[in-house]
Amino acid sequence: MRRSKIFLPTLKENPSEASITSHRLMLRAGMIRQSSSGIYTWLPLGYKVLKNIENIIRNEQNLISQELLMPTIQDSEIWKKSGRFEDYGKEMLKFKDRHEHELIYGPTNEELITDIFSKNVMSYKSLPLCLYHIQWKFRDEIRPRFGVMRGREFLMKDAYSFDKNKEDSIKCYNRMFLSYLRIFNKMQLKAIPVAADTGPIGGDLSHEFIILAETGESDVFIDKNILNEVIPDIKYDDSDKIAKLVNKLTAFYAAADDKHNEDKYLNAVKKDDMLQTRGIEVGHLFYFGDKYSKPLDANITNIEGNNSPVEMGSYGIGVSRLVGAIIDAHHDEKGICWPESVAPYIVGIINLRANDILCSELSDKIYNYLINNNIEVLYDDRDEGAGIKLAEMDLIGIPWQIRVGPRGIKNGYFELLNRESGNIIEISVNETDSIIKNIIG
Ligand code: ATP
Ligand code: MG
Repeated sequence: MRRSKIFLPTLKENPSEASITSHRLMLRAGMIRQSSSGIYTWLPLGYKVLKNIENIIRNEQNLISQELLMPTIQDSEIWKKSGRFEDYGKEMLKFKDRHEHELIYGPTNEELITDIFSKNVMSYKSLPLCLYHIQWKFRDEIRPRFGVMRGREFLMKDAYSFDKNKEDSIKCYNRMFLSYLRIFNKMQLKAIPVAADTGPIGGDLSHEFIILAETGESDVFIDKNILNEVIPDIKYDDSDKIAKLVNKLTAFYAAADDKHNEDKYLNAVKKDDMLQTRGIEVGHLFYFGDKYSKPLDANITNIEGNNSPVEMGSYGIGVSRLVGAIIDAHHDEKGICWPESVAPYIVGIINLRANDILCSELSDKIYNYLINNNIEVLYDDRDEGAGIKLAEMDLIGIPWQIRVGPRGIKNGYFELLNRESGNIIEISVNETDSIIKNIIG
């Protein structure tokens, strides 16, 4: 994509509406614009990142779950059956259609998926079953803030599992646990599983995945040693090994404030290993047994031929919140430093002097070469000052920058810069191929 063609309204000044770094950078980098409180338009650059995050989640979830798509708007009837039509409170947006029929904009989907299950699955023989979708949610948050971190409309991946008994349901919970570790790892995030309260979803087993960050809204108390754990290579059908991993990780003290117990903390963790800080909740696992299957009559016949409510769990990831969380973990004073896995473009070319024929010829040649090699590239071909172009490329955080300028060309080279490390390599104008060698490693 040429910079002269893309819709990328970047801002030179810090917008006053943003109080935290990720929000500020998303506005300045032309990724989002607020349309009303807690509701955003995703501009092309931001939308590309959102899609990349979605795809990382999708690829990993597809190994243990099947994707479907439920609607954003739901019938109030099923919510009345579960009791949450009243219990969910003011966060749920309720409205009526032209026939005076009560509808809601889904804040989550336990009721709807349980209803689908109850009408289509009858026997334990169809289990285990795990379904997920990636869909917009609406929660009328009392204080929408921090940009996409706490929006009213936000994108969530939510999965739902159905099993014949508790034992199988916990196995699914554990697979999700491993899947989440892998998903966040692929985004270069260190996500810590912490014991959590179940809130309006309910149930008796629950973990949140938290990214440590000063600007996070959750208070967390952890044993620092958990940060040194690496994710082993385990297959999803190896339930025993996965259970061992989950047991090992959940044995570390790690709790959000509502589950925190100071005496236990003091007992379990050495003083030097204590870390009390704040974090961003990016994922949440729940096992809740028959909490929804019972009121919504989602029964299955078991091996003995008897009817019983199916065992369930639900598993969310804050897809749009992750964009902010990744920026929080990957930025410097100049702007964003995207991990390659989610970056909107892998390479940014800066033609430092667009009115110089040699600079333009070489920049065009590199641009075409990268396109032919299927590398996502943003080419700043505008006739603007070098300072402006360099600052903008730093701001939007493309992982690799190619800088083509008259001085380099005179000496037969151009520069390849790594955004995160700041390292610069000089590449001979005759060896364009070595760009790819450097990038792919
Ligand atoms: P929070 O405690 O932050 O309000 P929650 O516990 O109510 O979140 P869940 O029901 O667990 O949220 O939803 C699953 C995931 O969706 C959360 O882990 C979070 O990443 C994301 N999420 C929840 N609320 C919002 C929101 N208002 N804006 C953006 N993402 C959100
Ligand atoms: Mg939660």
